[in-house]
Order: sequence, then structure tokens, then C-alpha cells
Amino acid sequence: MSFSQIVGHQQQLEIVRRALNHGRLHHAYLFVGMEGVGKKTIALGLAKAIHCSAAAGDFCGECADCARIQDGNHADVRIIEPLAGKKEISIQQIRELEKELNFRSFSGKKKIAILDPATLMNLSAQNALLKTLEEPPRDSLLILIAANGGALLPTLRSRCLRISFGSLARDLISGFLVSRKGLAAETAEFLAAMSLGSLGAVVSIDTQELLERRREWVRLISGLRAGDYRAATDAAEVLADSKDDSLRFLEWIESWFRDLLVYSVTQNQQAVVNVDMLPQIQQQSATADCERLFSRIAEAKAAVGGIQRNLNRRMVIEDLLLNTVEAS
Ligand SMILES: [Zn+2]
Repeated sequence: MSFSQIVGHQQQLEIVRRALNHGRLHHAYLFVGMEGVGKKTIALGLAKAIHCSAAAGDFCGECADCARIQDGNHADVRIIEPLAGKKEISIQQIRELEKELNFRSFSGKKKIAILDPATLMNLSAQNALLKTLEEPPRDSLLILIAANGGALLPTLRSRCLRISFGSLARDLISGFLVSRKGLAAETAEFLAAMSLGSLGAVVSIDTQELLERRREWVRLISGLRAGDYRAATDAAEVLADSKDDSLRFLEWIESWFRDLLVYSVTQNQQAVVNVDMLPQIQQQSATADCERLFSRIAEAKAAVGGIQRNLNRRMVIEDLLLNTVEAS
């Protein structure tokens, strides 16, 4: 792998690479952006490019230095995250880090620390890190990774050069899935849409399982007839089995209702998320009522919030499905 194989974020990469090539890297960066868009990949890429023994201004991904950085075993590159079984990055970890950053580099190159996610530092850890940032050790580079910089002390943020990472465009993700994961275009398109702009979300999904489950969901939803409250109740019981599954189902059904709405208004298949289910979408959208679909989309969103707040899953899903089968 090299910089050119990183998906998206061309502007951000340009900033980092130019600084690297001109020897003008800042001593601390704050990489901000939603989960799974590639912040850590780019942070590791930068660390590799600094230490890679095979490529100049870039990284090969294969030399001993690159491999050690990837595995978290490089003497000059530390990845700081909560210790096993802990929820926070502690002040102790930051104090140890500061000590290490003050040692001479083993390789004669930069000593690097990647804090991921930096937002898990508790207040005392953040204050300790602030001291390090106020007097950065020579040839050190800190990269703080955060989904939302707001959880960090303003004084800490102000000492870092902030680089923001947006969500990835759908075609970038589907292109990645086709060219590097060998997925069929339709599957890639669906997963890209389900990813909501996060490559990390897609990579961690078991594709086959999700597609199989989605087929079940479509069967189930398509099979619900107006007035069949019993079927809706039974379905809710199955769908509420686990929290993750419930959330995934609700995220999917929101995309399904939206597809029906968008297709019934525009007849544009490009705008549809569940593109490989187009025949079902065409059929169901023909008789769809836009007002009702708007309500269902809002309810699905609210249901996600309810389940995240640990409301009774079966009741939340049941409400949504009962509204779906309610005779108009
Ligand atoms: Zn290398």
C-alpha cells in the first residue's frame, strides 16, 4: 500500500504530503471526522512514510518498518488507546508517552504517537498532554484522532493543526469494494449506500450475512398486508432479537422507505440505495403513499434513537410495523 491507494481525502493527503516533503510537518495534528473514513489509515500512512526504508516521501507497506508500524510494534511509533479492559486513556499512559518522546529516536527519525481516539483521554490525561504540547520534545510528532474535536480541551485543540475528514462519496466506496474486494457492482452499490460514508463500517460488515439478512427483511416487509397486525407483531419479535440486529434492521428499513419515496416521485433508479431490489421497489412504489412514507421514515429514525436509549426493542419495532400495516 502507498498514499495513492488511500481511498478519498485527496486534499487532506496533499496537505500532509507537502508538509512531509518540505520537512515542515507540524509537531501535532488533530484528525477530525466520523468513524471509519480513514483517519487512522492516513495517520499510520504518515508514520510509515517517515520511517519507510524503501520509499521516499511515501511508504511501501511491506518493509520491516512499515510492517512494524502496522502491527503497533515499531520502537519509534506508539499507538495510544485505552488499555485492555479500560474505557479511558489514563494520565499514566500520557506520562509514559512523554518520557518516551523525550528519549532519542532509535532510528534517528521522528518519534511518533497516534492517540486513537484522543477523546478517550480523561481530563487529567488531556492536561498532561497539554504540557507535552506546550514544549514538544524535539523530532516528535503527535497525531490525535477524534470523531468530534469538541470532547477535547480547547487549549489542547488550539495547539494542534486540525485536518477535517468528510464522509466518503458513495462511488468511492463502491469503487473500492469492486476493485479491491472483488464484489459485484450491485452488491458494492448497496453496501456503499449502507455505509453512510464510512469505509470502516463496510469493511467490518460480514457482507454475505448482511445481504442474506436483507433478503429476509425485504421478504418480511413485502409480505406484510394491510390490517395484518398479527404478522407485524410476530415479525417484531424476530427482529428485536438483539440490539445490533435491531439497529441494523431499522437503518435498513429507513433506506427502504426512502427508496420507495424517491422512486415513486422521481422514477430515478440512480437515486435508490437498494438498487438490486429494484423490481420490488418499482412494484411497491407504484401504490405507495408519500405522506405515509414520510411518517415511516421519521418513525424509523426515532426508533433507532429509542433503541440506542435502551427502550424495549420489541415494542419499538412493533410500533413501526403496526403503523406500516395500518389500513389507510
Ligand atoms: Zn516501507
